Amino acid sequence: MVQKPAPELSVEDIERFGPDPLGAFKVNLARVEERIAKACERAGRDRAAVRLLPVTKTVPAHVLRFAFAAGIRSFGENKIQEAQGKREALDDLAIDWSIIGHLQTNKVKYLTRFAREFHALDSLRLADLLNKRLEREGRFLDVYVQVNTSSEESKYGLSPEALLPFVDSLDQFPRLKPRGLMTLALLSTDMEKVRPCFALLRRLRDEAVKRNAALTELSMGMSGDFEEAIEEGADVVRVGQAIFGKRPTPDGHYWPGLIST
Ligand SMILES: *Cc1c(COP(=O)(O)O)cnc(C)c1O
Repeated sequence: MVQKPAPELSVEDIERFGPDPLGAFKVNLARVEERIAKACERAGRDRAAVRLLPVTKTVPAHVLRFAFAAGIRSFGENKIQEAQGKREALDDLAIDWSIIGHLQTNKVKYLTRFAREFHALDSLRLADLLNKRLEREGRFLDVYVQVNTSSEESKYGLSPEALLPFVDSLDQFPRLKPRGLMTLALLSTDMEKVRPCFALLRRLRDEAVKRNAALTELSMGMSGDFEEAIEEGADVVRVGQAIFGKRPTPDGHYWPGLIST
């Protein structure tokens, strides 16, 4: 398919992303890259061991054409409907879509049509519905099991106690390709509160991988804490605002609970 010409920017776009989103995204991406490289160095890890998943939620589809032009090929979206709309608007571009937020069971069919991976698997019912749909579509899906590492602060994700029994059931869903565990740490600038969430996910992964050898990766770390996450072993960092600028929507819209300063 032929790529569409560079999009026009509205006044709101320019207010939010500046007059040159392509230039801004490139600069931000380079800064994030540098911070990832430094964190890997501090942790004695290979840069190639850490994957950056840019999170594009709330960035309008036409503006995401600049993200693609800046070299970004994987787009992480929290909400399936937003992702689906963007996917339709950008279907001339070869993009890998990752759904990283909670999925309601009645929206499974939208996800299985196009997503490459899903980072918020947290129930057997959802696993079963995904598996059945994928079977029909003749597709597979990479999945990360979401764990609630901040105790009762968040309402999504399995409790640490529920994780191992859940892992033992994953074999029943051949269309799901387990990749690892995912968490949202406590949303705080106090790293003394954030780091224990990452360390807990790592310990849980060490247990989980003994039961299912495919569960090797840790999806953890966002704009405010990805360096700490890498130091604690993150294999995938999900970074939005550090690349695309501050979001106008309050984060409570995406993560009920969690906010603590
Ligand atoms: C939005 C979001 C992120 C990225 O957060 P930023 O602060 O923009 O880096 C990561 N993970 C999930 C699940 C998200 O919804």
